[in-house]
Amino acid sequence: MAPLTSEVDQSLDEEALVTKQHLERVYTSIQKYVQGPGVFERAYTYVRHWATESAMIIADERVWEIGANKVKQSLVKHGLRVTDVTFGGEASEAELERICTLAESGTELIIGVGGGKTMDTAKYVANKLHLPCVIAPSTASSDAATSSLSVIYTPDGQFQRYSYYPLNPNMVMVDTKVIVQAPVRFLISGVGDALATWIEAESVINSHATSAAGGTPTIVAAYIGRACMDSLRKYAVQGILSNIRHACTDAFEATVEANTLLSGLGFENAGLAAAHAVHNGLTVLGGPIHQLMHGEKVAYGTLVQLVLENRTLEEYFDIVSFMAECHLPITLEELGLEDISDEDLLKVGEAALKPDETIHNMSKKFSPGDIADAIRAADAYSKKWRQVNNWTEKFIVPPSRHHAHVQDIHP
Ligand SMILES: [Zn+2]
Repeated sequence: MAPLTSEVDQSLDEEALVTKQHLERVYTSIQKYVQGPGVFERAYTYVRHWATESAMIIADERVWEIGANKVKQSLVKHGLRVTDVTFGGEASEAELERICTLAESGTELIIGVGGGKTMDTAKYVANKLHLPCVIAPSTASSDAATSSLSVIYTPDGQFQRYSYYPLNPNMVMVDTKVIVQAPVRFLISGVGDALATWIEAESVINSHATSAAGGTPTIVAAYIGRACMDSLRKYAVQGILSNIRHACTDAFEATVEANTLLSGLGFENAGLAAAHAVHNGLTVLGGPIHQLMHGEKVAYGTLVQLVLENRTLEEYFDIVSFMAECHLPITLEELGLEDISDEDLLKVGEAALKPDETIHNMSKKFSPGDIADAIRAADAYSKKWRQVNNWTEKFIVPPSRHHAHVQDIHP
């Protein structure tokens, strides 16, 4: 989102100017959120609000086995006709169009069960066919489930474009019995993404910038962002420890809710700032950074934002200690960037400052050099924190994106 400046742009027409000066407060949301162990087995209870005769379920082969079949059985038991779709794995234009043609004429509802790309696909198909949409994430690794956008990729998996929708999915349904079986790395990545929510939201609100929902952030948006941070600080470490033992505790439930609902509604209704822009900047680099998950990179972006905001060392240490306890990467070495050149850091800075980047929501203006310096400074502050606290544990860049490297962490 572009920043809302106070300067009068002479090229604006009168109507746009009025909108600029009196930007409405906008709040956008899913209609219903359901979370608990075994919810997929009771899916019909919630799905019947939107479908009484037929529905399409989209899931990849693995997710059909671990979750989507349970949703299907619940619907079929109550007399619904279900069209099964096995998602090919890439949210590309060709795959999206293929799935749109599979919907029979009477299909009342699109249900997407699975990870980010399955969710992107279900949202796209539902919007294209003007049907309601239920999203059932199979991990709590990011806050994408509730949002009103999809990322579209090329057939070989490169980012192509965002697809924005006028409304959010109708319902998000989270079966924690399924989520708790996923490798803990997914939950940790979700914590990394969710920890950024309040830090970015606060920055957007303080700068009077426009939210991702396209308006002035509401009071409720600020409370959601704050509650996201508070819940994580209270429960995320226990949630992670529970996940390692596949134990569905209340702390685990609270962590899943923060990662999925609070983070999702928080970011969309308040907005993003430097943490996500730095994340996007990091993706221009080659090498091991691509083995990191979204939230792992966002966590480092959050530390960089703290530096850009000139927070005190005490505030920095407070956040970085919590990230370390959650097993998130806090130094360049842990990102696989120990030997990064000044030239590459400037490239990251340039990419983070692209005109459409969310860093422009901040009131302070930055140069690529400012970003590069903040990335180096964050590394130094984190190392200082390690030294002061004799913290020896390190995040190890996994051999592949889906390798569950933190499985072996012992409480
Ligand atoms: Zn994110």
